[in-house]
Formats: sequence, C-alpha cells, structure tokens
Amino acid sequence: MIPRICILIISLYLFAGISSQSNEHDATIRTMEEFSGYQIHEPSFHDSSSSSLSVDTETLQSQIDELSTFSDTPAPSVTRILYSEKDVQARGFVKKLMNISGLSVREDAVGNIFGRWVGSEPELAPVSTGSHIDAIPYSGKYDGVVGVLGAIEAVNVLKRSGFKPKRSLEVIMFTSEEPTRFGISCLGSRLLAGSEELAQLLKRTVDGQNISFSDAANLAGYTNSDDFSSIFLEKGSYSAFIELHIEQGPILEEEAISIGVVTAIAAPASIKVDFEGNGGHAGAGLMPKRNDAGLAATELALAVEKHVLESGSIDTVGTVGILELHPGAINSIPSKAHLEIDTRDIDEHRRDLVIEKIHQSALSISKARNVELSEFKIVNQDPPALSEELITKATESACQELNLPYKKMISRAYHDSLFMARISPMGMIFIPCYKGYSHKPEEFAAQQDIANGVRVLALTLAKLSVS
Ligand SMILES: [Zn+2]
Repeated sequence: MIPRICILIISLYLFAGISSQSNEHDATIRTMEEFSGYQIHEPSFHDSSSSSLSVDTETLQSQIDELSTFSDTPAPSVTRILYSEKDVQARGFVKKLMNISGLSVREDAVGNIFGRWVGSEPELAPVSTGSHIDAIPYSGKYDGVVGVLGAIEAVNVLKRSGFKPKRSLEVIMFTSEEPTRFGISCLGSRLLAGSEELAQLLKRTVDGQNISFSDAANLAGYTNSDDFSSIFLEKGSYSAFIELHIEQGPILEEEAISIGVVTAIAAPASIKVDFEGNGGHAGAGLMPKRNDAGLAATELALAVEKHVLESGSIDTVGTVGILELHPGAINSIPSKAHLEIDTRDIDEHRRDLVIEKIHQSALSISKARNVELSEFKIVNQDPPALSEELITKATESACQELNLPYKKMISRAYHDSLFMARISPMGMIFIPCYKGYSHKPEEFAAQQDIANGVRVLALTLAKLSVS
C-alpha cells in the first residue's frame, strides 16, 4: 500500500505539472477528495504551489488595512474601544464583508456578530470560528482581526473551491475581548458561554466616565433590555469552535514554523492584596519598631516568584504587575501597600496550589512584620481549557495535506476560545507574528503567514463540517 504522504506528494505533483490530461486530472481530484474528505468540484490548476484552496491574499490584506483605519489614534497604531464611534463603524465593515460572502448575519444584544453559511443539513450543530476586532489603546491591526477577516476569507476560499458544507459554518465576531472600557475581558464570549454572574454584573457596570454598560450599548444601537441572559448559548450549540490568531509570542517565527496547533489555553487568576502598617517618619522611626507595609508587599512579590518556580513547570507563571505604596514619599515609611498579582497555568490544580501558597505567605509575612493583611481577594479564577482532540487532529491533517510545517503548543495568553470551550469542543490555530509583538503598533504578520493560516482554517472547517 502506498503511504498517504506519497499519495499527497504525487497528487501535488500532478496539480503542479499537469493540466491537460483529463484522466489523470480526475484521478488527482479523486485523490484529493479522498484526502481532504470532501468533494472538490473545480480545482484551480493555475497556482502550482497550492491545491484548490487559494486565498485572495491581496484583498484580505487590504481589508485588514481598511479595518485598521477605524481607529481613535493615528496609524500605525490602532485604538478601537467597545461601542465607540470607530467600533460601530468597524462592526459595519465586518457585517458588510459577511454579506458580500453570502453569509446570513445576525447580532445579539451586546453585539456579538454571527455570519452563517447554511449547510446541507442545517439541523446539525454548526461548526463555528471567529475572534475579536476591538483593540486596546495604541495597539496593532492583527490581534483578533486575523481570526475574523481571515475566517470570512476561509469561507470565500471554500466557496471558490466549490465546497458545500454539511454542517452549517458560522463566523463569529465577539464583542469586547479586551477589558479596556468596562474592565471585563472576553465579555461577548463569556456571555455566550452562559455566565450568569456576568449577566448580573453588567446591570451595574459603568465605564471610567460613569456611563453604564446598558447606555453605552444603547448608544451603539444594541439592546434596550437588561436581560443579558438572553444571549446565552446552550452547550452543544456548536459541534466545534476554532479560532485563528497570531501567536503573540516568538516561538513560531524563531523556529520558522508556519502553524501552531494549540493544545491548551492557560487561564489567569488575579489577586488583589493590601497590607497596612503604621507608617511614620523615615528618619525618626526606629528600625526595630517599624511595621513597613511596603516591605511586606515586596517580600510577597518575591514569594510569588518562589511559589511559581516551585511548580517545576515552565507553564506556570506569576507576575506582580502593580505595586503601589502609600503615601509614596521618599521620607515616609509606607503605611499602605497594594499589589495585584496575575498567575496562570494550563493546569488548574497547579495554579490553584500557587494561589494557596501565595495566601499562606501573605498571612505569615503580615504576622512576621506586624502589618495587617487588610485584603486578600481572588478577583477571578477562570479554569484553563484543553483543545478537543477531534479538532487538533483535523488541524494537523490539514497542515499535512497543505504541506505546512506545524507544531503543537499551548496558548499562554487567553482568548475568546477559553470561554467557547465551556459550550463547545474548541481548538485554536496560531500563525507567526513579527518578534512575537502584540498590543503595540509594531505588531505584524506577513501576508504569506496569514494566507497559510486561512488555508489551514478553511480545510479544518471543511473537515469538521462533514464529520
Ligand atoms: Zn486577541
């Protein structure tokens, strides 16, 4: 029996070299059909470097460029905040592209946008894909955007190839993945995943200007009701969800690998800690008598590092990103100290053990230094998510068929996929980005890398839609 990889090489060779010999032509099509598991109707033989899955790279790039102009800061930076005028314009742009691609478009009460390509068996749970287009202040134009505009192009790629989905395919643009305006990350996907806690919280959430979430949503043309639970999707609403995203890390670029197949997404826990001491004059306060809240905080920061390293896994990380001292004067012993700690892992138990150790350290430091531990609050503690094997396997075989080098990896940043995993089997596809830069204007992904990601996404969607 000829190994499959040989068949692939032979078939690619045939695609590349032969266009006039119809018998072999048919054989090639049959082989590719067998390979990809779906029917190829009119393969294009013009591009010797690819099968029929050809991406309109120029158009996709021009769409990414155009979307980046809906920004509140000048190019090359992008700033697009939830429900701002620019955000509303950008949403209109996405809906327009979905319409052009023949998708039926709907929006929910917070502005998650869905574009559906109805399959031949529409009663089956659809396969979905998507990401976000909001951008934190002075960030770049690829984070999230590649997974929305790239997903629409993946649909176009499949349509051009003559593919007909069995399960419907749905492109989703999630509302507010970034926490910029209301302090809540992955707002849209959390709601879709059925967060009752968030549905209640949104009723009393205001932004920095004291504008309520509801008023902001209304101004952007959404919902007149406070019933955000209407947005919840039931578990099983999708047979699969897969997100295409720039890696936001340097690994793929450094190793010259085209595709990252994400096996797990690390989840953060955030902790707020306050210590209080007596303060006093930096000259007059004798050292043995002090109860310095600042030193307690710095000691805890070192303890965070120690406990994270004790886990023994490279996937456990911890950061003290905020450390504020009060009153913040050179000649005053800090009477109050405030820390905010972020710790993440792909193993929930291991991460929670780190949190417990941090708590124990906070208690013992407060005792030893005679300061009060006035707050130790776990602000959020989302569970990590594992990708579904069915999806990672489909993505891996798509990479093999497209002859693209890939590597299995974890996502250290989290994405809407983390929450979609609560209601659907989930997977993610990473593409390289320049030096791993993200959340800054220098963020960049090469056209060829984006095109590779779109082709892998298209083929993965195709496989999942017929399974
Ligand atoms: Zn993102």
